Amino acid sequence: MIGGGRWARVWYRVLTGLRPQPRIHWASSRNHNGVADWLSEQSAVHGVSLPPTDLYAGLEALVAAARPGMAIVANLPAEHGRTVRMLLDHGCHVLVEKPFVPTLEEADALVELADRRERILAVGLELMLATYVRGFRQVVEQSGLEFVAAHLIWHDAYSDVRHFTVKTPDLTTGIVGDLLPHVLSLLTAIRGAAGVSMDEGRALRGGLETELRFRYGDLPVTASLSRVAERPARLLQLEAASGARSTLDFTTEPGTIITPIGHAIVDDRWAIAPRPLDALLQLFLKAIAQPGGDSPILARLTRHIVAGTEAATNTMTDSQLLLLRPFLLRDTDSSLPTDALVALREQVAAPLVAEGLVTNPKAEDELNRWAMRAWAVIHRFARHPFTTQREMAEALGLERSVLVRLNRALRQSEPAQQLMVGQGVAMKYWENTILPLLQAGVIETARQGVSRHPFRVGVYPGVSCMFHCSFCGRDPDATYARDSVAPGNALFDAMFRDAPADPYTFYVSGGLEPLTNPGIGQLIAAGAARGFRLSLYTNGFMLTPQLLARQPGIWDLDTLRISLYGVDATSTTEVTCHPKAYAQVVQNAIAFLQARNERGAPLKFGFNFVVLPGRVEEVLALAELITSINRAAGGRQVDFLTLREDYSVSPEDGLGRGERERLAEIFEQLRERVLQPDLCDLQIDLGYALHSLSEGGWPTPLDMVAHRAMRPRGYPQISVVVDLLGDVYLYREAGFLDRPGARRYAIGRVGPTRSLHQVVTEFLASGQAIEPEPGDTGYFDIFDHVVTHLLNQADDDATFGIPFAEGPIRDRERAGGAHAPLAHPTLAHPTLAHPTLAHPTLAHPAAGQISHVGAAIVPVSIAR
Ligand code: SF4
Repeated sequence: MIGGGRWARVWYRVLTGLRPQPRIHWASSRNHNGVADWLSEQSAVHGVSLPPTDLYAGLEALVAAARPGMAIVANLPAEHGRTVRMLLDHGCHVLVEKPFVPTLEEADALVELADRRERILAVGLELMLATYVRGFRQVVEQSGLEFVAAHLIWHDAYSDVRHFTVKTPDLTTGIVGDLLPHVLSLLTAIRGAAGVSMDEGRALRGGLETELRFRYGDLPVTASLSRVAERPARLLQLEAASGARSTLDFTTEPGTIITPIGHAIVDDRWAIAPRPLDALLQLFLKAIAQPGGDSPILARLTRHIVAGTEAATNTMTDSQLLLLRPFLLRDTDSSLPTDALVALREQVAAPLVAEGLVTNPKAEDELNRWAMRAWAVIHRFARHPFTTQREMAEALGLERSVLVRLNRALRQSEPAQQLMVGQGVAMKYWENTILPLLQAGVIETARQGVSRHPFRVGVYPGVSCMFHCSFCGRDPDATYARDSVAPGNALFDAMFRDAPADPYTFYVSGGLEPLTNPGIGQLIAAGAARGFRLSLYTNGFMLTPQLLARQPGIWDLDTLRISLYGVDATSTTEVTCHPKAYAQVVQNAIAFLQARNERGAPLKFGFNFVVLPGRVEEVLALAELITSINRAAGGRQVDFLTLREDYSVSPEDGLGRGERERLAEIFEQLRERVLQPDLCDLQIDLGYALHSLSEGGWPTPLDMVAHRAMRPRGYPQISVVVDLLGDVYLYREAGFLDRPGARRYAIGRVGPTRSLHQVVTEFLASGQAIEPEPGDTGYFDIFDHVVTHLLNQADDDATFGIPFAEGPIRDRERAGGAHAPLAHPTLAHPTLAHPTLAHPTLAHPAAGQISHVGAAIVPVSIAR
């Protein structure tokens, strides 16, 4: 016997009825003393004659000391998988209580293990064996009716007496995991095994109740489940096409059967036949004695119950996350309404118990207290991804060792992870940059000073630029010598040749305007030929049909993005100081889109727009501008628009609070606008800080570091840029020719015999450090701010004594590697290109998508 709770004790009573009496080995890790007291009470107070029983403080102790032939697993459902595996490995036949395990994948693995070990693995679905259920089946079959719907009610009062003990729910298991296996086993007994397909399921009262709609085979089923009903009710009703109904009411066993013609039948075998648990035990023993049968309790025959429960649990979890999300967007974590707390508690209870932070899974107060601590961490990281462990420990008043356990519990909870990294106001920081970097393992590499090829490399091939944008950090008069183009392009080609195979390593940008490079087409073609999916970031002024005819290699790009600097001639001229900029760029965009569509080129084409202070109204005009470009070009539309905030100004000089609030309204209008057919293919990606506005979050400015926080040795393992001369710069906006002070951040030069990786290696080996000076963050792009924050956060955590990987974020544990898959790809930033847009079936997301959760992988509705 494994487990020390109510159900294990019920099972113990059943075992005492076996003759001859077996020796029972009973392991309970969490409630060892309670079990010992209960046993003494049974024999002393009630005078029960108990079989010889040995108690153990845990499963490991039991299997080490005893060699049990069979086991009944009645511990916490979250521990079933591990427990069953260990018992099978020790040669035990196993009867495991429902819910068996949470996923079909895990169930199949255990069934396969049992088969390999030639052991019986059965599931405690005793309801299938109840005599009144069999009686009901007979009535149903004898009626000759074809039933077209089933209605189930399974309502438990919060505290009820069942099997002679007080039953309160185990809060580590949700209502679906707890009750749906019963419901499905009932349907199995009446109709045979069938697949379950979920139609609808919503968490009511946070998840204490639910109404499910699903199909069992081809039978539509509604199921009303409750853990907090005023009075218990257990009822199954089958409905015929004529409206006639057969009903089994087993609220109090054996209950009553009402036939379609209204006769009430009481099960007369209940008093004489073995009770369901006795029948279950006998069937289990029979399966052991006579293997090879097809007893309905065998795990391999109950896969549909695991699959159906898994699907319904996922539906409930989604519903619970929706319930929690509005509170994630609030600026305070101090309280949750009851239903939200219940939803949260259900998602973190099992790991909190597993970590020993909550000692009793039925102790609601204790569980609520820890759930709120977990919420504080979730809320904090969903809003402030750079929170240190020092800050978290202080905010919660927890010892380091306790915080480590809380973190570990959060890493075990998939919904907690989703809330932290995919649902809060800072989700763009997570999805666009932090998670891909963690998944690639480059944060640790950079912190440890280990050399590697840079994860992302900006190729800056521009020779000059015809614009003079007000916010541009370049020297307006700087140009590269014409004779540097050919050798520079040869260096870029050598970089492509020597780089690791990650197709998103390089992006082409500037510096200066990349299309001013007369070999740009060949350069792109060379990169594409080596397997790189290049993105090009251009001001679009030179993207004429004539240039395309001369530079056909441009069609080998993965993505081309034009930066728009205004929505009409006046606003564009104000920014670029070029009077022809607007007309030329729009004309080029139309011609380019037309040409792309005529060629049927897969290339993704879109725009970037920086929302400047004082000009937020331009966002709606921009949508109309893109619509007019779509109309003029015809065919496949513009694929994407990235909207960004100006990071070159300090937060005080950036968008004001009123402007951010107005932007939130504008984004609402934009959601509606992109539903129209003339703009329906446009995928809109909002930047780090703008995203929160679209979600109704509190307006927050970009999270930027001060110059004192800059890292003297940068992070060339993560990001560098390389210009036409082969000079390698640590920061993206340092790679502007002749920019005052920027040379300090050049770490070497690639050459015909000196690879980029070598430059990085030599720089790191030199120990060279660049002391930051006031104003040096001007060489940062916003990506550099994020990376610096992240590295500093990891350093501080390590100093505090909680290594980064032991924080609350699961992706920090990933070892990474050059080809680590990007589970959270994005088009949001040049460094992190967007593989989903490269996927033919995802190139045109569902109409009107502003990308949120998981970018475009799972097209999500714009509705919150
Ligand atoms: S922002 Fe780009 S287009 Fe504008 S001046 Fe600078 S390099 Fe040229």
